[in-house]
Amino acid sequence: MTDMKRRDFLKLTGAGAAAGTLGLAGAALPGAAGAARRAPLVVLDRPADLPRPKGQRVVVVGGGWSGLTIAKYLKKEDPKLDVVLIERRALFLSCPVSNLWLADLIDLEFIAHSYLDAARHNGYLFLNATVVDVDRDSRRVYTDQGHLRYDFLVLAPGIDYDYEAIGVTDPAERFHLQTNYPAGFIPGSEHLSIRNKLEDFEGGTFLLTVPSGNYRCLPGPYERACMVASWFKREGIKGKVLLLDANPDITIKKDGFHAAFDELYKGIIEYVPSFEITGVDPYRRKVRSEFAEVDFDDGAIYPRVRGARLIEMLGLVDPKSPQKEARIDVRFYNVIGDRRVYVAGDSRPMPFSKSGNTANSEGKFVAKIVAARANGRDVREWQSPHTVCYSMVNADPMEAISVDAYYAYNPKDGSFRFDRVKLFEQRSPDRGQATLEWARGLYRDMFG
Ligand SMILES: Cc1cc2nc3c(=O)[nH]c(=O)nc-3n(C[C@H](O)[C@H](O)[C@H](O)COP(=O)(O)OP(=O)(O)OC[C@H]3O[C@@H](n4cnc5c(N)ncnc54)[C@H](O)[C@@H]3O)c2cc1C
Repeated sequence: MTDMKRRDFLKLTGAGAAAGTLGLAGAALPGAAGAARRAPLVVLDRPADLPRPKGQRVVVVGGGWSGLTIAKYLKKEDPKLDVVLIERRALFLSCPVSNLWLADLIDLEFIAHSYLDAARHNGYLFLNATVVDVDRDSRRVYTDQGHLRYDFLVLAPGIDYDYEAIGVTDPAERFHLQTNYPAGFIPGSEHLSIRNKLEDFEGGTFLLTVPSGNYRCLPGPYERACMVASWFKREGIKGKVLLLDANPDITIKKDGFHAAFDELYKGIIEYVPSFEITGVDPYRRKVRSEFAEVDFDDGAIYPRVRGARLIEMLGLVDPKSPQKEARIDVRFYNVIGDRRVYVAGDSRPMPFSKSGNTANSEGKFVAKIVAARANGRDVREWQSPHTVCYSMVNADPMEAISVDAYYAYNPKDGSFRFDRVKLFEQRSPDRGQATLEWARGLYRDMFG
C-alpha cells in the first residue's frame, strides 16, 4: 500500500476498528452515521501527551531486546537526542531463559522487568502505546495514544507467526490453535499458558514443533524439549515429549542436544526430523505432514515466523523476502531511500540468528549509525552482530551448552555467512551458571 492509500484506509475504517479495539465511550459502531463516527479519528489525530522535544527526536518502536538497547545506546551516543520508546506491552517479559522458568528453575521475577526502570535509568521517555501507522512524508508516528513527530524513526517490532505456512488458514481453527496450543515464541501470555499446561499435564504426548526457515531462536525449541522432559522426570509424569522438526536434523548445537536427548531423556523425548507440518486439526489434536498424521494430548505448536505485521502495514516489506521482512540497507539498517527510518531486531531481512544477544549487539551499532547521522556524520564501517546463545539441557544439576558466533559480509554478492563460530556442546554445570549470568548481564544492560 502507498502512504496515501494507507492514510485513506485509516480514515475510512478508523471508526469501526477503533471502536472495537479501544472500547471508546460513545464511539460509533460500524455502520453508524454522523458525528459519533468521528470519535476515534479525534483519538488518532491528536498529539500524544508527551513533553515537548528537547532536541532532535528519535522514536523507537518496540520495547524488545532490540528497541530497549537502541533507546539506551542512542542516549549514550548523544545525550542531546530526545528519545521516545513506544511499546504496546506494559511489562517486559523475557523470552530468553523463559524455558528455564517453565521447568521451575527460576522465578517469574527473573524474567519480568519494568519499562519505567529502563526509561528512568537511561534518560528516555517510555510511551505505553500501540503504533498503528507512520506517515513518512510528514514524519509522524500514529499510535492509539495520539501521534508524535520524529526526526529519526527506528522500527524494532519483532516477529509475528505465519500459521498459513503450516496449512492453518481458517480463522476459527487458527484461534483455537493459538489459544489452546500457543507457540510460546512471542513474549507474554503464551509462556504463562504453557507453564499452566505443564502443571496440569497428567500424562500422554506433549507435542513441541520446530518450524523451517529462519525462525526465532534456533536452539529454543530443543532447549524447551529438554526443560519439559526434565519437568516430567522431576514430577514423575508418565508422558513423552514429541518433538516434530521440519528440518532434516537439529539446526544448531546438534551434538550437544542429541547427547542430552539420548543420555538424559531416553524414552521421554521422541525426536522426529523432516516433519514439515502441512495441516493441524486443533479440535481432534492431530498434526499432519505430507506423509504422516500424528496425535497429541497437549502441547505448544510453533508455526513458521515472519517479520512483524507492522512492517507490512507500513509498506516496508522486501518483496523478495519469503518471511516478509523489511527492505533495508543490509549493512546500515535504513529503509532503502530513507535515511530517517531504520529497521532492526528480528524484523531485519539479514540471515542472522533471530536472537536476543544478536539484537542487543546489533542495537548498539544501529544507535551509533543514527546518532552519527543526526549529527551530520556517517558510519562507514559495517560491524557484525554477535550471537551468543546458551541452552540449558539439564535441570538437576543445571547444565548447558552454548554457541558464540559473528558474521562475515561478502560485498561481491551482498551475502552473509557465519564467522568465528565457537561451539561448546559438552554440557557442563559451569555453562549452566553462565546461562544465568548471561541473562542477568543483558537485563542489566537494557534496564540498568
Ligand atoms: C522461548 C525463547 C527462548 C529464547 N532464548 C534465547 C536465548 O537463550 N538467547 C538469545 O539470545 N535469544 C533467545 N531468544 C530469542 C529472542 O527472544 C529474540 O530474538 C529477541 O526477543 C528479538 O528481539 P526484538 O526486539 O527484535 O523482538 P521482541 O523482543 O519480540 O520485541 C518486539 C517488541 O515490539 C513490540 N511491538 C510490536 N508491534 C508493535 C506496535 N505496533 N506498537 C508497539 N509495540 C509493538 C512487541 O510488543 C515487542 O515487545 C529466545 C526466544 C524465545 C521465544
